[in-house]
Amino acid sequence: MMRVVLASRNEGKLQELRTLLAGVNLSLESQAEHDVPSPAEDGLTFVENALIKARAVAAATGLPAIADDSGLVVPALNGAPGIYSARYAGEHGDDAANNKKLLQRLQGQADRAAYFYCAMVMLLHADDPTPTVATAAWHGSILQHPRGNNGFGYDPLFLADGLQHTAAELPAARKNSISHRGQATRRLLAELAGRA
Ligand code: IMP
Repeated sequence: MMRVVLASRNEGKLQELRTLLAGVNLSLESQAEHDVPSPAEDGLTFVENALIKARAVAAATGLPAIADDSGLVVPALNGAPGIYSARYAGEHGDDAANNKKLLQRLQGQADRAAYFYCAMVMLLHADDPTPTVATAAWHGSILQHPRGNNGFGYDPLFLADGLQHTAAELPAARKNSISHRGQATRRLLAELAGRA
């Protein structure tokens, strides 16, 4: 059984990935079980930032590492909030302020198309020149007003194509089964199975 460390302090993500990994020959450990200095996420793309996070964990632990990086992309805003999704309005993780700023920037904008994007990578070690990389997008549009109390981040403003409910109105299990993160995770696992 291969030990792999997930580059995240989010317990929810760890549990979700463990569920998806059931049946795969990997034992997933939490970054919290290891002493890992946080790297500067100074890449310019989701893939680059995911690699930076995975490399930091692999370097600190000597173990293979999986990391993800995700956010909301609005083409009419030139891709913003993009890799800066968590701190669009300034302070890291202020969801209400981020949503407010997004609505302001979209005022009068006819094209409200948007997608959530997730990059998920695995490095066998810090110098691994051939990472396994999986990406996925979840397409939809940005509403004028927030709806729903589930989820986090931009979920209350995001209406996925083909659905009547915002991401914040979906039960967690349903969101996970169709979201950018769920899709990217399944693609990463398929890639890993193909390489094994
Ligand atoms: P992280 O990659 O999990 O750190 O997410 C970065 C930021 O992107 C979050 O703080 C949210 O603002 C946004 N984001 C990523 N995934 C989602 C999602 O599924 N719903 C809502 N917002 C998200």
